[in-house]
Amino acid sequence: MTAATHSTLFPQVPETPDAVLDGLDPEQREVALALHGPVCVLAGAGTGKTRAITHRIAYGVRAGILQPATILAVTFTNRAAGEMRGRLRQLGATGVQARTFHSAALRQLQYFWPKAVGGELPRLLERKVQLVAEAAARCELRLDRNELRDVTSEIEWAKVTQTVPADYPAAVAKTQRDAPRDPAVLSQIYSTYEQLKRDRSVIDFEDVLLLTVGILQDRHDIADHVRGQYQHFVVDEYQDVSPLQQRLLDLWVGDRDNLCVVGDASQTIYSFTGATPDHLLNFRTRHPGATVVKLVRDYRSTPQVVHLANGLLSQARGKAADHRLELVSQRDKGPEPVYAEYPDEPHEAEATARRIRDLIAAGVPAGEIAVLYRVNSQSEVYEQALADAGVAYQLRGAERFFERAEVREAGTALRGAARAGRNDSLLDGAEGLPSQVRAVLSTKGWTTRPPAGSGAVRDRWESLAALVRLAEDFEAAKPGATLTDLVRELDERAAAQHAPTVQGVTLASLHSAKGLEWDAVFLVGLTEGMMPIAYAKTDEQVEEERRLLYVGVTRARLHLSLSWSLARSPGGRASRRPTRFLNGLRPGSAALGARGGAGGGGGIDRGTGRAPAAAAGRTEAVEPRTRQTARCRVCRRPLTDAGEMKLMRCEECPSDMDEALYGRLLDWRAGQAARLSQPDYCVFTEKTLMAIAEAVPSTEGELVVIAGVGNRKLTRFGADVLAICAGETVGEEPEEGDGEG
Ligand code: ATP
Ligand code: MG
Repeated sequence: MTAATHSTLFPQVPETPDAVLDGLDPEQREVALALHGPVCVLAGAGTGKTRAITHRIAYGVRAGILQPATILAVTFTNRAAGEMRGRLRQLGATGVQARTFHSAALRQLQYFWPKAVGGELPRLLERKVQLVAEAAARCELRLDRNELRDVTSEIEWAKVTQTVPADYPAAVAKTQRDAPRDPAVLSQIYSTYEQLKRDRSVIDFEDVLLLTVGILQDRHDIADHVRGQYQHFVVDEYQDVSPLQQRLLDLWVGDRDNLCVVGDASQTIYSFTGATPDHLLNFRTRHPGATVVKLVRDYRSTPQVVHLANGLLSQARGKAADHRLELVSQRDKGPEPVYAEYPDEPHEAEATARRIRDLIAAGVPAGEIAVLYRVNSQSEVYEQALADAGVAYQLRGAERFFERAEVREAGTALRGAARAGRNDSLLDGAEGLPSQVRAVLSTKGWTTRPPAGSGAVRDRWESLAALVRLAEDFEAAKPGATLTDLVRELDERAAAQHAPTVQGVTLASLHSAKGLEWDAVFLVGLTEGMMPIAYAKTDEQVEEERRLLYVGVTRARLHLSLSWSLARSPGGRASRRPTRFLNGLRPGSAALGARGGAGGGGGIDRGTGRAPAAAAGRTEAVEPRTRQTARCRVCRRPLTDAGEMKLMRCEECPSDMDEALYGRLLDWRAGQAARLSQPDYCVFTEKTLMAIAEAVPSTEGELVVIAGVGNRKLTRFGADVLAICAGETVGEEPEEGDGEG
């Protein structure tokens, strides 16, 4: 860990309120100083909107102009809210509520429910789909998975637009919506679904907002109470506010006007849930005296990334596009975006993983790299590929770290040990803060080496490992710090929900990447059907998909890669085409009609005159062996699932695995992982070991063709694995100089 990382993890708090303003440009400063009355910031991606509002709050609090407890900052995701709390804390402002609409509403609802309704708040339904399926069944309809998804989203749309079942058909007619079912039928499912919820005494996600709105509307005493508490409101990502959230915001604000909103119409990506940028774009009409600030300097991305982002927007159409802002990069030149085409998804994933490994080797921290895709189901093949390449990754957001059961338990244990201090025999012989923390956590079953496999046990281990890393960073930043100091730090962070940075490459959907940034971003699976997604039919829906890609591109600070594959599985028909959104922008593609594409044609990217590393139209991946259609070894069915391809058989086909051999391979792997201080899956995944235990290879040639082995692992582990397969005992003596990832 470098000094630079310590200073970002434990940065200096600005000494004076004015010092808080030092980190802002003149326009951002204008935002920070406009502490009263309505304020609207319209600005493109990476221009420092979130930074401006965070500094605004911090400045107001530090200068004593705003009382922290009277501020409610609303962001879009729990993760963004957590990040904002972290940033506020770093700026020396504590006690401000930074939440999502949902969590702010839920808190108020829990508090006021006994008074407003009586009894306990009904249980919150985690997933609607089951209940929607049941409602459909009662209406004598059987819906398949896709239909269920569509009907569920439609019910969500109806709810956030505050449309009750009886009014739904009329609302569809009025908004000219393309309903997934006959509106009369959908209205019936919707109404049955609502009835089922009442019968079972549960509420859903949207009910939390609807009920809070209902209570604030009907109970003036409660509304007054809430308004008495909160007097300043800040909303990030305001372009994606739904009518229901807007209604709630109106009720919170009341007849006052201390409201600051920031957003970028070009990043509207939640229209499908009823969100609309109208509130942002018409802010001045509604608040005639508003301070309106525009930011155009892009501090996040290089000119190369910004060039592509501007190019994408220049092809956009529709209302949001009319308000687009051309971004101007403030950063030094960086590498050109890389465009890469692959024959199939596993190739794309493997090549992506390889590139990521190279970036890490070149010094880019894993936590500063992200792979972003359109739908969550695309993650699996990347999880596998990263595991095979020995790269740690995380799927989960960093939010609510301190709410995890294991972290709370660990906190209690650490607090106990800190209180006992030197009297605690547990700490005997544990020198230094990190080893003390390890000693305490070991009483909670934590081991220095991660457990095998993934799942809940592994998640638990990762959380505790993050606490150990935090202790290491803390000690490095504050030499001589005691366990009591650390406990205090943890309490403060827990209060501010400032989770320690999780190490590993982020795998996330484009939607969940909103507002975030990484040094290197890999946008994968960019084919027609995925981007735009197949069910985007109308012009508006297609435009929203384009904005989604814009959001993806603008997440990158320095390295940006855009890739696609021509077939899903190896040997499949190459029937796919790269996304239309890159036409005229990526080298070798022709512009598509409308509003001149920004990029050059002819295979050379404008700007540098250089062809990017892997120009479209050519296959970038160079593989040592060509792939055949993978077929199940048992039933010969062609395989498409990544996990099944690893096993070389259908999951449900009988396994002819040598169980004893598999056990020996697992033991060997644990030894290797310990020796290399790496997670087990970095040696081989379980699927690969199973495939080995099934194939029992006796030559290098037989071993190398097993998915997940490859030349690199053959060189490192081939001799051992073949020896184990031959029934020999493999020694544990350490090798030297093999610790690299
Ligand atoms: P998005 O639209 O993606 O949400 P944003 O407008 O909210 O982007 P921020 O996330 O606030 O942008 O800022 C983007 C990056 O630029 C951050 O790393 C931020 O710290 C940096 N940045 C913003 N303003 C400045 C500035 N004045 N000086 C230096 N860095 C800045
Ligand atoms: Mg932002």
